[in-house]
Amino acid sequence: MAQRSPNKVLIVGDGLAGTLMAWECVKRGLIFEQWSNGSPAASDVAAGMFNPVSFRRILPQWDPANHMARARIAFQGIEKSLGITLWHEVPIIRVFPDAKYADLWEERASGTHEVSPYIETLSAGDLHPSIHAPHGAGLVRESGWVDVQLLTEKSREHWQQKGQWKTQAWCMEDGCPSEFDAVMDCRGVGAVDDLAQFGLELRPNHGEVITVQTELEWGQQTVNNVTWALPLGSGAYRIGSTYRWDMDEPAVLAASLDHLIDQANLVRTGPALVATETTSHRAGLRPSCFDRRPILGQVSARSPWYFACTGWGTRGVSIGPTMVDWTLDAALGLITDVPDEVHPKRFSTFTKN
Ligand SMILES: Cc1cc2nc3c(=O)[nH]c(=O)nc-3n(C[C@H](O)[C@H](O)[C@H](O)COP(=O)(O)OP(=O)(O)OC[C@H]3O[C@@H](n4cnc5c(N)ncnc54)[C@H](O)[C@@H]3O)c2cc1C
Repeated sequence: MAQRSPNKVLIVGDGLAGTLMAWECVKRGLIFEQWSNGSPAASDVAAGMFNPVSFRRILPQWDPANHMARARIAFQGIEKSLGITLWHEVPIIRVFPDAKYADLWEERASGTHEVSPYIETLSAGDLHPSIHAPHGAGLVRESGWVDVQLLTEKSREHWQQKGQWKTQAWCMEDGCPSEFDAVMDCRGVGAVDDLAQFGLELRPNHGEVITVQTELEWGQQTVNNVTWALPLGSGAYRIGSTYRWDMDEPAVLAASLDHLIDQANLVRTGPALVATETTSHRAGLRPSCFDRRPILGQVSARSPWYFACTGWGTRGVSIGPTMVDWTLDAALGLITDVPDEVHPKRFSTFTKN
C-alpha cells in the first residue's frame, strides 16, 4: 500500500502500458507526466489481437469475460477522446490441425464447457474459398484487434501538445523525482534490471510479425493455424507471430519471414503468398513472466512510491486495462494490495527490501 495517495504521478514508458496508464490517470483526476527514452517498444510491433480462447488446449484465456469487457470500455473511451478508431471486431477462424483436435473442439462447442460460449464449429461451406482445412475449422466469437500503433502514436502527440510528455530516461536509482508522489513503471522489458534486484525475473520473449500487401483475396476474417493472418483491409494482411526465449535484442531475422509465409500458405488453396509481397517485418520483446501473469504494484519497502505495471506478455490488449486498474487501485489505497495472481510475492525469489 502507498504511504499516501499520490496526486502527481510519473509514468515511465509510452508503450501500451504507459498509454493506458495515462488515460486512466485522466479518468481518475490524477495529474501525470509521461517519460520515455525512445527505446524499442513491444507495442510498436504488436498485432493487438484479442481472443478469448487459448487454442493449445481449447480453454478460455484468463478471465476473458471481465478482462474483455473492461478492455472494450477503455479502448472505446480513448477512441472518443482522440476521435480515432482503435477497436476492430474480426472473428478468428481456427483451422484444426488434426481429427482429434476437431473432435475436442466440437465436443466443447456443443456442450456446456466454460469455453463453449466463445466457439462454434463451421461447415466447409462457411469457409472462405481460399482456406484449406482438411480437418475442418471453427470460429471464435468476441475476437478482433486494437490498432496499438495508432493508439500510442496519437496519445503521444496528444500529451506532447499538452506538455505532459517528454523524452527522458528513468531508472529506480533515480528515485522519485521531487515533483511527483509516485512512479508507475511501464517500461516493459526496460524494467528487467531493476526488478531483478528484488528477485523478480521479467523475461524478454522475442517475437516478429510481417505485413504483406497481396493480390490474393483471403477474406475478412483472421485465419489461425498457430500462425495467424489478420486482414487489415485493401489487400493488406498482418502475419505472425514468432516466439523465442533466447534473444534479448529485438532483431529482425530473415528466417522468420520465410517461416511465417510458409505457415500462412499451408492453410490456403490457390496461388501462394511470396516473400516479395512483404511491406514490413518487425521484431519486439514481450515483457513476460514464468507463469504468464504480470508483475504489478509495490516491490520495495524502501521505495513505497514505486509501482510496477509490466509483464503483460502476449496479451497486453485484453488484460492491460484491468492491470492498470489494479495497479492504480493499490497505489490509491482503494484495495489493500494487488491480487495474489499478479503480486510479486508469487516469485519464490522475491525479496521486498
Ligand atoms: C511480435 C509481437 C506480437 C504481439 N502481438 C500481440 C497481440 O496480437 N495482442 C496483444 O495483446 N499483445 C501482443 N503483443 C504483446 C504486446 O506488445 C505487449 O503485451 C505490450 O505491448 C507491452 O506493452 P508495454 O507498454 O508493457 O511495453 P513496451 O511496448 O515495450 O513499452 C515500453 C516503453 O518503455 C520505454 N522505456 C524502456 N526503458 C525506459 C527507460 N529506462 N526510461 C524511459 N522509458 C523507457 C520504451 O521506450 C517504451 O516506450 C505482441 C508483441 C510482439 C513482440
